[in-house]
Amino acid sequence: MKQAPHPKTAAIVTVGDELMTGLVVDTNAAAIARFLLRRGYRIVGKSSVGDAVPAIIASVRAAMRRADIVVVTGGLGPTHDDLTKEALRRLFKCGAKFDPAVLRHVQSFFKRMGKPMPSINREYANIPTAAVAVRNRMGAAPGLFFNKRVLALPGVPHEMLYMLEHEAPKFIHRGGVTIAEKTFHTAGLGEVGLMRRMTKLDEARQLADIAFLPGYGRVDIRLLTRGATPAAARARLKKAEKLISPSILEYVWGVDDETIESAVGKLLGQQRKTLAVAESCTGGGIGEKITAIPGSSNYFLGGVISYANKVKEKMLGVSAATIKNHGAVSRECAEAMAKGARARLGADYGLAVTGVAGPGGGTKEKPVGLVFVAVAALGWVQVRRLNLAGSRATIRGRAANEALFFLRDILAARNG
Ligand code: ATP
Ligand code: MG
Repeated sequence: MKQAPHPKTAAIVTVGDELMTGLVVDTNAAAIARFLLRRGYRIVGKSSVGDAVPAIIASVRAAMRRADIVVVTGGLGPTHDDLTKEALRRLFKCGAKFDPAVLRHVQSFFKRMGKPMPSINREYANIPTAAVAVRNRMGAAPGLFFNKRVLALPGVPHEMLYMLEHEAPKFIHRGGVTIAEKTFHTAGLGEVGLMRRMTKLDEARQLADIAFLPGYGRVDIRLLTRGATPAAARARLKKAEKLISPSILEYVWGVDDETIESAVGKLLGQQRKTLAVAESCTGGGIGEKITAIPGSSNYFLGGVISYANKVKEKMLGVSAATIKNHGAVSRECAEAMAKGARARLGADYGLAVTGVAGPGGGTKEKPVGLVFVAVAALGWVQVRRLNLAGSRATIRGRAANEALFFLRDILAARNG
């Protein structure tokens, strides 16, 4: 197969003191990276700087050395801490010129909002002579495109996203290649284990960028290929997929946009079976995930948040003796909860989870992170014991996922 063509390069600079302190998560950089990648660029740098002219100049200059195109966001407003325009004007060694069309646009924006325009906003219409103004339909601050290489967009995320989608393509032309992507979602084996199984990984890496992305109890494997045409990129992707997917197939529970809850829903739908849940340490987290899927009412009946032992007994029929002899966090209790949810709610499957989420409450026998998940169906019940690590939030999140992974494995095995 022909070598993939060389993509053009791009770099991203995000501006704002709030990014330096971690008060605001830099979601703009991620959105811009996705945009540039889809447009066929290779992203060679990402940096963030505070609101200071010399720092902005230095970052954009460094980005321009490395990349064909630079996208900057933040600091385009009219307040004292918005310094991006000034920094870029100095970097490009130019003056500024009043643009009446921009002023009219800013005025009409305020009119639409039904607000008077503060006079400070006339400043928006002073456009550096090395730049053209980029229309902002969602806000007042125009974007700026300098010397056909540097695109500056406002920092407010919804304005920035709108401009990326509707305006940026007019200025940032395709980077000469197209991409194709595929993500395999796996569970049950760590990244090293998965990698070891892929005997043709080196061959596949000749065709595709391959990333292993571990998460809560799961690993995503992401393939990205490039080609001169969409068809060429897709053909490389298909080849790369064929080289890796057979060796890991048994661990794959979904691809691309699928989630574990959508995968479970799909299987339940195919098998025309219904589900009820009994949740202790996840406090409704499993039900929340399942009901986030449109159409889940076709297979999900509901559940019991049986946090207290009394509720486990009254609502699910777990016997007091089970709890007394084995404890609420036990194989036996998880089994009884799953059976109870199934029977009491009249479902084909009952899914239960009970565990020690911490940070307190752990003992030597039952440490923080000990979780049991159980699945009950007509005539049988199965339990999986897990030792999860992390904070309370992590353990609860993982417990919900692990319960769904367990159910998925059982449903998939039934599918043959
Ligand atoms: P405005 O004209 O509205 O002032 P601006 O270009 O000056 O636009 P900023 O002042 O830098 O934008 O940021 C506006 C808001 O957008 C801030 O509240 C900030 O939290 C948010 N924001 C800025 N940059 C980012 C980023 N990279 N990722 C996510 N949010 C951001
Ligand atoms: Mg601002």
